[in-house]
Amino acid sequence: MTMTSTARRVDASAASIDSAALQHQQQPPKAPSRPYDPQYDPLLAPDPGAGRAYAPTWWVASAGSPPEDDGPLTQDIDVDVAVIGSGATGMSTALYLAQEHGIRATVLEANQAAWGCSSRSGGQGQNASGRLKRSQWIERWGLDTAKKLDAEIRSGFENFRHLTTQIDCDACDGGHLYLAHRKEKLPILDAEARLMREKFGYATRMMSAEEVRRDYCDERETVGAMYEAEGIGIHPLKFTFGLMRRARALGVTVHTSSPVQGWETIDGVHHLRTPGGVVRARRVAVCTGGYTGQALNPMLKDRIMPILSNSVVTRPLTDAELQATNFRSKTFLTDTRTLRFYYRLLEGNRLQIGSRSAVSGADAEGAVHLKLLTDAIARKFPPLAGIRIDYSWWGWVDMSHDMMPRITQPDSSRSIWYAVGYGGNGVSFSTWAGKRLAERVAGKDAGKEVFELPIYHSQLPFPNVLGVVESRAFAPFRRLGQRMLYKWYWLRDEK
Ligand SMILES: Cc1cc2nc3c(=O)[nH]c(=O)nc-3n(C[C@H](O)[C@H](O)[C@H](O)COP(=O)(O)OP(=O)(O)OC[C@H]3O[C@@H](n4cnc5c(N)ncnc54)[C@H](O)[C@@H]3O)c2cc1C
Repeated sequence: MTMTSTARRVDASAASIDSAALQHQQQPPKAPSRPYDPQYDPLLAPDPGAGRAYAPTWWVASAGSPPEDDGPLTQDIDVDVAVIGSGATGMSTALYLAQEHGIRATVLEANQAAWGCSSRSGGQGQNASGRLKRSQWIERWGLDTAKKLDAEIRSGFENFRHLTTQIDCDACDGGHLYLAHRKEKLPILDAEARLMREKFGYATRMMSAEEVRRDYCDERETVGAMYEAEGIGIHPLKFTFGLMRRARALGVTVHTSSPVQGWETIDGVHHLRTPGGVVRARRVAVCTGGYTGQALNPMLKDRIMPILSNSVVTRPLTDAELQATNFRSKTFLTDTRTLRFYYRLLEGNRLQIGSRSAVSGADAEGAVHLKLLTDAIARKFPPLAGIRIDYSWWGWVDMSHDMMPRITQPDSSRSIWYAVGYGGNGVSFSTWAGKRLAERVAGKDAGKEVFELPIYHSQLPFPNVLGVVESRAFAPFRRLGQRMLYKWYWLRDEK
């Protein structure tokens, strides 16, 4: 499936697409050897391809040229540390390995630099990781552990904040508005806001719908909101390119168009087979997110559930539209649906909105998923109903089966580590995960209490039924369950 046919399908739907923008999408910054595959599906394909073009995102169109890289691997090489994946996790792992531990890693990327989620996200950097709220941390692990985990995630957020001041990435440090889309959601937000204040010391507070409409934007669905001061919206691709530039300046090597297609461990040395040569590595850090193929390594098989997230970006809003929607802020927004909408006004006054609805790669291009987003624009911002959509894309979020990430060495006798499972909350946390992963790969984690936290001391679980029975045997039925859950979520959130 080529990019051109994607464009045609999108065009046939309710929204209109700017042809100039599409032309741009067909000419990504660096000529890739193979076209973008919109139907790529990590549960079916062995790897994400080799040298594929970027997804047609606004971020790719506006990030400028990617940093220089080291091209595809063309011969067998021996390295100390190989990092698989060049997203924000892989690049920050390589950066911190070099910066803090003097280890110059070799990064292997299947396609273009930051080709996966890091060039497709909503760019909403939250003070979070994984899908669970702080109240759910307490339910699962008790207050003491929840407080330690909060301190850790908060350090990660502050580190991310610092990086956004160092890297040119259109950062907007404006907090986060969590909008109740119906009245029944308000007490839930209110309870979470109280818990954030009383147990964790944040200044999180509730806001009336009028206050939201007056001071932020005239979002017509909202009946009230929770405001968190911690939230930074970024241009995720500029940010990841920034991490990559810094890492390469410290001697990190980045081989693009070099997918790991085979992995053998011989006498403790990992032989990573790519199309152009074998990388023999003493240590391997896996940072492949939702793009982790089932065949990459048995330690990860069936442990990540890739979930599609669709996103669109409109043409720039006119002054009259900005006035009609009363956009006064670029603070990012999410709503309280289980399959939540995430949205914000970007630099240049384009609106981005995304959500989840497609299940398989074959489904992803369906007009119904685009319509879900254009309908949401019309409902939330009626003056923008029918606005031209310039960019439409999707990507695979790495969901873990217990909704929390893992930054871990799954088997202490094998020199393999991974950082995955952020569940759509990796924009800010991935850089901290990379920092912690680097510490672990460098062997500096021994005896440190922080690594006793749940996200560090166990491996990713297999699928489970109702959180009770966990088994790999459920893996083939995950998509069936997902389709049923999506229907249930829709009934619960809309009816
Ligand atoms: C549409 C969308 C919206 C999102 N919005 C938000 C948001 O607003 N806020 C938020 O916090 N998070 C969001 N996320 C998640 C967030 O983007 C990621 O958690 C974050 O970018 C970290 O990504 P990563 O580096 O772990 O993985 P990725 O950026 O996906 O990088 C993984 C890389 O590994 C490579 N790879 C995979 N297999 C191989 C192999 N065998 N050999 C070599 N390379 C390989 C892939 O090509 C890919 O480039 C969103 C995700 C999507 C898809």
